[in-house]
Amino acid sequence: MKDKQLSVSAIKEGTVIDHIPASALFKVVSILNLDKLDTMITIGNSLGSNKLGKKGIIKLSEVFFKDSEINKIALVAPSAKLNIIREYDVVEKRVVEIPDEIYGIAKCVNPKCITNNEKVSTRFEVISKVQVKLKCHYCEKITDQDNIVII
Ligand SMILES: [Zn+2]
Repeated sequence: MKDKQLSVSAIKEGTVIDHIPASALFKVVSILNLDKLDTMITIGNSLGSNKLGKKGIIKLSEVFFKDSEINKIALVAPSAKLNIIREYDVVEKRVVEIPDEIYGIAKCVNPKCITNNEKVSTRFEVISKVQVKLKCHYCEKITDQDNIVII
């Protein structure tokens, strides 16, 4: 039975994003624009996890991400871990790391901010990485973890 499960879920080449909190799963999908990909994607949500309670997992066949893309995941799922798969084997494990600056992923909380009113892409300095706090480059308002809206 175990072997059978494995053959269904294993991928030959690609990336497995594991340990995503269930509540962040679809945000990760949107941050990485996975809906635009036409490769094989397996998404599992609300799977049991001792560590997170419920977790999500995304398996992407033939997809490998750049560091800058991987680090975006950290904004919504700092606990996420990536396994890079080659020939059915995990050849590399990666943790996500919140970058020092964030461009164009999150929305500024300040409704008067230029980025919410004109065609200006958002830009933040990350001032706290534990409980994420983003400082807007334009209006200096702080957007914290609970208020992050992914655009
Ligand atoms: Zn702003």
